[in-house]
Amino acid sequence: MTARIIDGKAVARHLRAEYASRVERLKSQHGVQPGIAVILVGDNPASQVYVRNKIRACQETGIHSELHQMSADTPETELLARIDSLNADPKVHGILVQLPLPPHIVVPHVLERIAVEKDVDGFHLYNVGGLVTGNTVFPPCTPYGVQKLLEYEKVEIAGRNVVVVGASNIVGKPMALMLMQQDATVCICHKLTRDLGQFTMLADILVVAAGVPELIVPQMVKTGVVVIDVGINRLPDGRLVGDVDFEGVRKKASLISPVPGGVGPMTITMLLHNTLISAERSLGITPKDAPTA
Ligand code: NAD
Repeated sequence: MTARIIDGKAVARHLRAEYASRVERLKSQHGVQPGIAVILVGDNPASQVYVRNKIRACQETGIHSELHQMSADTPETELLARIDSLNADPKVHGILVQLPLPPHIVVPHVLERIAVEKDVDGFHLYNVGGLVTGNTVFPPCTPYGVQKLLEYEKVEIAGRNVVVVGASNIVGKPMALMLMQQDATVCICHKLTRDLGQFTMLADILVVAAGVPELIVPQMVKTGVVVIDVGINRLPDGRLVGDVDFEGVRKKASLISPVPGGVGPMTITMLLHNTLISAERSLGITPKDAPTA
């Protein structure tokens, strides 16, 4: 068996075109342009690249974006005051504070200051809790992107064995909760899991988000598995790879996502989606593809 390769770029392109036309409709029919405010504290080079990419994607989709650049020594109180004013700004439907933050700022203070209905990153405790009960306002973008890819590829979730490798708050844990919500049987593995292979071998769907190149090799998966590789690793020779031995595992899998070009393009796409549905909700429109309430 050789797996079909999921084209995350094509799925993202398709979804972004649909979102762009919905943005256009909001502008022409309601005079409202969806808007996002991105707050960047300090000058972390990786964060600057991420923020630039997010802003470019917003521009391409017709979403208004504004960058709030604050110096690394900004007091927490000043950052919270900026969030308060954006919470009250009707032009802003989504607020994103780029992580990591300088060490003197307490991250939960910041994430919980963002109004729940503008928390397009999905990191507010209310949204995190909503993942447990199935009534989240905004799902976090990376696992939401994985969910959309599985949906797009018509992968059946209910009743299947899903193994999530990686248990971070931003990818692994929310991913597991979202798939549990869809009636999968879910197992979460992490760096202290003993004999990872005995768990991954059971997976009908394997989602890997560990940040370890070639963590998953063919002997660890069963024939026909669906593999979603979230990992992004830069090798010493400059190549970008995921967490899965792509060439080896694709010979056993039925469907596999590559790195780059798999999950990556979906993450920003879901940020655009969350911002769009926030604007639609602000007008009393129930978006057809809003996360389940
Ligand atoms: P993290 O470092 O916060 O968490 C990594 C998780 O993997 C932890 O739970 C850890 O216990 C587990 N882990 C580490 N080594 C392991 C091992 N040998 N076996 C099993 N589990 C192991 O990372 P994160 O923020 O969740 O990101 C994970 C990966 O996904 C990274 O490569 C990151 O770059 C990538 N990522 C990609 C996107 C995207 O848009 N495609 C978004 C976020 C993160």
